[in-house]
Amino acid sequence: MKILIVGAGMAGLSAARILAKYHEVTVLDKGRGIGGRMATRRIGEGVADHGAQYFSVQSNDFQVFIDELQERKIVSTWQLAQRSNIRYFGTEGMKMIPKTIADNINVITNEKVVELLQNTLITERGNEYSFDKLILTQPIPQVRELLEQSSMLISPIDDAVLNAIKYQPCIAVIALLNKATSFESGGIMLDNHPIAWIADNFQKGISHKPTVTLHASHEFSKQNLEGDLNQIGKKMLESVQVFIPQSSIETFQVHRWRYSLASSRYSASFYQLEGKQIFLAGDGFGIGNVEGAFLSGLTLAKALL
Ligand SMILES: Cc1cc2nc3c(=O)[nH]c(=O)nc-3n(C[C@H](O)[C@H](O)[C@H](O)COP(=O)(O)OP(=O)(O)OC[C@H]3O[C@@H](n4cnc5c(N)ncnc54)[C@H](O)[C@@H]3O)c2cc1C
Repeated sequence: MKILIVGAGMAGLSAARILAKYHEVTVLDKGRGIGGRMATRRIGEGVADHGAQYFSVQSNDFQVFIDELQERKIVSTWQLAQRSNIRYFGTEGMKMIPKTIADNINVITNEKVVELLQNTLITERGNEYSFDKLILTQPIPQVRELLEQSSMLISPIDDAVLNAIKYQPCIAVIALLNKATSFESGGIMLDNHPIAWIADNFQKGISHKPTVTLHASHEFSKQNLEGDLNQIGKKMLESVQVFIPQSSIETFQVHRWRYSLASSRYSASFYQLEGKQIFLAGDGFGIGNVEGAFLSGLTLAKALL
């Protein structure tokens, strides 16, 4: 059976990892690289995680998977001073986790899906991919965009499911510094502040040069989402001068994540569009976050087998 998966993030790759053992699986992603919101970027000679920063593990299925990556030194634990439970992160950046899953999977990057016909996907580059079953794992507003562009009608029930899934935006700044910060345990959570989170990627151990990642609060991100990114980045860095002196900043980049965390989700781990061989998965389904995306893909794959 030919299974096409859109999205090489945690959900798409988690499904592909199981399905590729039994079926002809192809994963398409519009990005230059693999990983979606598990994103790690270069800045000068430094490196910074600029999407997901860490994750927790609650389920046995995810624990088994993470234990194996921990043994291979791809994942390590992170004990934040402000939190009691253990978090996990990718030792060479969060991106290495999806990249490791993708090792034995046919993933095609730079391939943006723009139209969906009966059983064929068409990409921006004009390529066509046929399928028996299709799994869509992009954030739900992007799924809706694809369905609308394709004039594909969905049922009122499908419509209600899609409408109920919502995401918070997040503005992220990564900055290269000329000296490391000194915050305890490499990460700080701030309350009632434009910035919700600061991480030192040097202390975290993923960068040889000091870099920081700032995530704006939900409120600040919502209010400034359409603004001038460079100005917003400057404002964000100024607001944390007490932790990161302006004189230590060599350069910075700003990224607008329209969809960061799924704040309102469909309770089951995946959804099948009525009367179609089209399945939706991702962090909009089940428990959300990195673990939720992994479990969503895994549960769907098991159901399809
Ligand atoms: C700023 C930020 C901070 C976060 N912090 C945390 C955290 O600390 N802990 C945590 O657990 N989670 C965190 N998350 C959430 C976590 O990253 C996500 O829940 C998880 O990575 C989602 O995985 P996914 O596979 O469902 O979606 P994605 O990773 O978004 O994957 C979807 C993929 O679909 C691709 N795509 C979209 N449209 C198309 C198209 N038309 N054609 C082809 N490909 C397409 C995208 O390029 C993307 O790679 C954070 C997210 C962000 C952005």
